[in-house]
Amino acid sequence: DLPLSEVDPEVHAALTSELDRQRNTLELIASENFAPVAVLQAQGSVLTNKYAEGYPGRRYYGGCEHVDTVERLAIDRVRRLFGSRFANVQPHSGAQANAAAMFAMLEPGDTVLGLDLAHGGHLTHGMRANFSGRLYRVVPYHVRDTDFRLDLAEVERLAAEHRPKLIVAGWSAYPLHLDFAAFRRIADGVGARLMVDMAHFAGLVAAGLHPSPVPHADVVTTTTHKTLGGPRGGVILTDDAALAKRIDSAVFPGQQGGPLEHVIAAKAVAFNLAATEEFRDRQRRTLEGARVIARRLLADDVRQAGISVLTGGTQVHLVVVDLRHSSLDGRQAEDRLHAAGITVNRNAVPFDPRPPMVSSGVRIGTPALATRGFGAPEFAEVADIIATALVTTTPDDVLPGLRARVAALAAKFPLYPEM
Ligand code: PLP
Repeated sequence: DLPLSEVDPEVHAALTSELDRQRNTLELIASENFAPVAVLQAQGSVLTNKYAEGYPGRRYYGGCEHVDTVERLAIDRVRRLFGSRFANVQPHSGAQANAAAMFAMLEPGDTVLGLDLAHGGHLTHGMRANFSGRLYRVVPYHVRDTDFRLDLAEVERLAAEHRPKLIVAGWSAYPLHLDFAAFRRIADGVGARLMVDMAHFAGLVAAGLHPSPVPHADVVTTTTHKTLGGPRGGVILTDDAALAKRIDSAVFPGQQGGPLEHVIAAKAVAFNLAATEEFRDRQRRTLEGARVIARRLLADDVRQAGISVLTGGTQVHLVVVDLRHSSLDGRQAEDRLHAAGITVNRNAVPFDPRPPMVSSGVRIGTPALATRGFGAPEFAEVADIIATALVTTTPDDVLPGLRARVAALAAKFPLYPEM
């Protein structure tokens, strides 16, 4: 058995280049993180060879005794981490977790309320081209145009008018806590189920630094690779025994075949790590970093360039930069920061006058750099690099200096030093 470098030099070269990119730039994409080496090892293990259709103790294949151990560990650990009675750890991704959860609760044609994609929702919360928008009758709710906060009065009004079977709460680009109790009250008022998609903020919940949706929602879905910092994948949680059975059937055989037991092993490792004090410290630095960046981007020099921060700050791991009144659009801002060695993604903001491919926003998140070891002083330096890059009118003069500052930060916090 030859090493990858010899078997496939092309793929090996791309992997090596990607490792260099991750090491030498600053990753501020809000949905990304750096999985620990132990997670990478579990995910790159021989469990990838094993078929295990079914669930622990009830498989359709022989030889499942060890993957049963792994899957039971993952289930028990995630239940303990979030305090839920039941868990399904098999969804291959967050999108598949949401698809299975909806499949378990809805019939095609049923009505669903979800946050509009253009206002920070996710594709799977009802975008027209997504399975959710095609299978279900989706009624989007929004943020207010005055303060960019979720309009719960609108949610209540739409619920009364459309009598949805399911209300989805959760977001991909929204910087504040959701009021889960209010969502529960609205759902109960119309006999709807409540699903919370905590994909983005699950790590904060695990650390006790964000309200937990588990006591309020019928079903909670999440990814395992964002703030949670594990392998790419999804999880579904519920306290309802009957619903748990339907969810299991919706994942397999409803939606998936063989589970990715190597990924489930990596999830188990990540859930254990997420219960540690070190993880809590990471999440504290994640939140502090986002606050530091928001504060810098609200300073006078940035405001004078027509740039602001939606909702005037953040309670979570991300900041949504508002470029609607700036001559710089989302794409230019993303490119400008990329040239400085900082990776972010442009993002439409609510009521965006520019087309989605250009957009008037940038989403900036701190989980990956917090994992890398950054604390408040380093985030202050990152924030100043971002602010300087966005406000300058002479980027060609300024960018070399910013790139050097990025390189210094990256060198101070080596990533995957043993690899
Ligand atoms: N739910 C939310 C809120 C998300 O932000 C995302 C990913 O961006 C997903 C679900 C989907 O996760 P995945 O990309 O693993 O399918």
